[in-house]
Amino acid sequence: PFDVLVVGGGPGGAAAAIYAARKGIRVGVASERFGGQVLDTMGIENFISVQHTEGPKLAAQLENHVRDYDADIMNLQKAEKLIPARVPGGLHEVRLENGASLKARTVVLATGARWRQMNVPGEDDYRNKGVAYCPHCDGPLFKGKRVAVIGGGNSGVEAAIDLAGIVAHVTLIEFDSELRADAVLQRKLASLPNVKIITSALTTEVHGDGEKVTALTYKDRNSDALHQIELEGIFVQIGLVPNTEWLKDAVALSPRGEVEVDHRGETSQPGIFGAGDCTTVPYKQIVIAMGEGSKAALSAFDYLIRTVPA
Ligand code: FAD
Repeated sequence: PFDVLVVGGGPGGAAAAIYAARKGIRVGVASERFGGQVLDTMGIENFISVQHTEGPKLAAQLENHVRDYDADIMNLQKAEKLIPARVPGGLHEVRLENGASLKARTVVLATGARWRQMNVPGEDDYRNKGVAYCPHCDGPLFKGKRVAVIGGGNSGVEAAIDLAGIVAHVTLIEFDSELRADAVLQRKLASLPNVKIITSALTTEVHGDGEKVTALTYKDRNSDALHQIELEGIFVQIGLVPNTEWLKDAVALSPRGEVEVDHRGETSQPGIFGAGDCTTVPYKQIVIAMGEGSKAALSAFDYLIRTVPA
């Protein structure tokens, strides 16, 4: 069995694997796609101490760094069930889709999350070419330009407020007849001069010139009329879905499906830890996932030295 089994090979999982392996214990990393969301990212400019890098490059560096250590990397492996130890100090079991079963004294869950997409024509074609999902990451790329934010929940309204301070103009588009964000955020948004709010609107298409986004079309749900807005950027803020469907019966999840962790990264099950975008820790970012992954591994090590194996 492993001392620490990390599930997920994004920034959180990679950090957990390195911190755990540096303790000289048996470490395994099982991931569906090593690199995680970083693989889908173009420019990264907020990875502190690195002015600019690109997603695929950082993903390769993550993997190389883990490979420097004696960790067992199991790529293209999807976990489908977690069975926590029945007794304190017992072994946890992770079942993989291919039928294999992995046993470990501690587990770090770092399966990340995925942004919910609009699923309209043009969205995929212009992903990273004007279609963006993370205002903290990509907001500054649209300095002085016109953008839309899709979604009037808390994250959409927060994104619009954030972007309004950077870009020339923000159009917030909400499907419902009213915004769903907290009143205090809505008041703040309404006070901003360069923000327009459109409700009862369904985005139907993203347009571009082959290189980058130039406009979007939405349908007014009251009149069914189609309208086009010219812009350079579209921030889709209709939800971040944690990859935790497989954990429902194993550890406590928040109403949004995030793994609940305490300040040490421990879940509701002793010896099982969580890190990164799949957890309740706010602000889903690379440096945060790495910090949380490191913390989870150190907590796992602490658990190992204090717990008598059953
Ligand atoms: P992830 O990166 O999501 O990795 C999860 C890992 O778990 C993957 O290896 C995945 O294959 C694996 N996995 C999932 N389910 C299973 C399963 N059942 N079994 C086994 N493995 C599984 N952040 C920044 O700080 N700066 C940026 O510029 C930036 N730009 C971004 C741009 C885009 C387009 C996107 C989508 C995100 C961006 N982010 C950025 C956010 C950042 O990528 C995430 O916060 C970070 O990757 C989270 O790391 P993680 O390890 O928690 O999860």
